[in-house]
Amino acid sequence: MAVLRPRKQPERTCVSCRETQAKRTLVRLVRTATEGDSRVTVDESGRAHGRGAYLCHRAECWERALRTGALARALNVPLTPHDRQSLEAYSGRLLPAAL
Ligand SMILES: [Zn+2]
Repeated sequence: MAVLRPRKQPERTCVSCRETQAKRTLVRLVRTATEGDSRVTVDESGRAHGRGAYLCHRAECWERALRTGALARALNVPLTPHDRQSLEAYSGRLLPAAL
């Protein structure tokens, strides 16, 4: 008989650094669409409807995901300047400057 192991935590991959981490340690971003107007926002609850992507808690990952378009690609939607601004503001609160 196979020994039952405790179930692993669900894991997700940061779209920027591609590291796999426990889902709860990542921040979920979600694309919400209303009337053809897509918005990308931070999904604090982790349960919002819509296409989601995950980023880890490193400010550099957020910066890179925004700069290289990795986040836009993962969500298959271009980021509006407004989205970008609010995501940058959020990432600024994630970690104190690591330098
Ligand atoms: Zn990362």
